[in-house]
Amino acid sequence: MDNNRNYDAQRPRKKVSRQTMRVRRLVALLVIALLVLILVILACKACSPKTDNKGGKDSKSKTTTTTTTAVTTTMPVPTTTIIVTTVPTTTEPVNNSDFKLDKYSFEFAVGETQMPRVLEHPEGSGEWNEMWSSSDENIATVDQYGNIKAVAPGSCQIILRDGGDQTQEVQIQITVIGSPNATTTTTANGLTADPQSTAMSAPAPAKISDPTAHYEGNTLIVNKSYPLSSSYNPNGLDPTCEEWFYKLVSAAAKEGINIFLSSGFRSYDLQQSIYNNYVNESGQAAADTFSARPGFSEHQTGLALDVNTIDDSFAGTPEAIWLENHCYEYGFIIRYPLGKDAITGYKYEPWHIRYVGSDVANQIHAMGANATLEELYNVTSQYAE
Ligand SMILES: [Zn+2]
Repeated sequence: MDNNRNYDAQRPRKKVSRQTMRVRRLVALLVIALLVLILVILACKACSPKTDNKGGKDSKSKTTTTTTTAVTTTMPVPTTTIIVTTVPTTTEPVNNSDFKLDKYSFEFAVGETQMPRVLEHPEGSGEWNEMWSSSDENIATVDQYGNIKAVAPGSCQIILRDGGDQTQEVQIQITVIGSPNATTTTTANGLTADPQSTAMSAPAPAKISDPTAHYEGNTLIVNKSYPLSSSYNPNGLDPTCEEWFYKLVSAAAKEGINIFLSSGFRSYDLQQSIYNNYVNESGQAAADTFSARPGFSEHQTGLALDVNTIDDSFAGTPEAIWLENHCYEYGFIIRYPLGKDAITGYKYEPWHIRYVGSDVANQIHAMGANATLEELYNVTSQYAE
């Protein structure tokens, strides 16, 4: 060991000529230059795909460039031709945008309001970018949330554009008729037709066709004591309930409150699979406090719906508070209020509203905070077994 160390220390250093030193320096410089070059190339690569692949803003600037070229060279823009040749498959307006709506045409009466539901926005965009306008405000007006109001008989288009990319545009065909149409008058509880007077009086829903259904007066009761038969399937929300729900949505929107439908009609079969899943997850006793057994769910009536976030985080939000204070004005009640578990059979569900019509909703409202259908009619809600 010692021997080796001594050998190393005493080993004479090799003499390096000046020329070799110069060559070495040159090589070192070249290596550094090469490294810098590689870094620059990498940096460029990292930047370039971003600008190419982004949606929204960049596709907008792209479009602008195309248009400018087209104007200066007066050449036809190929994309325009594609749009023109698209064949309409229905009588509804053609939608070439990335917006998806539930309806593209409306026929309704002077004084009434409608609101198309936006199911999809262009990629990277959303509700906040919606820009609504009317082609003729003498026929129908539209507000910033998409509430369309019929002003006078005639037809026009309501246009929805995306604020981020205004080439994204969809048209909604509006036909306004002079008096409320048949569908609204039939649900109006015998009252004919002044939309102003029916506006504050939600009719009782029509009686359902299930012969085993339990009624108290005009009010259908579905709870743990009163089930529906497994064959009862209206296959959707009751039309009156749906109509008044969207009146509620419009009214809330005018106050900056965003209420949306999360879960409406549920069939017997769907409830069965939901309930079974909960039982498997949490056991039957726990499941029974928050999920109805098949046949016992109000959602099977088509008169109940869950809005916004279906969990405890919804409680106390401005939307939940608005709903609690105003839903009765549109014929709805909070079906499972706070502290009434023993009476309704369910824990507090601020998101679950039930359409009963103005008469019953007003009665329950007058009974004070957190009153229930069970208390109004003095009925129980308990499973028989
Ligand atoms: Zn519900």
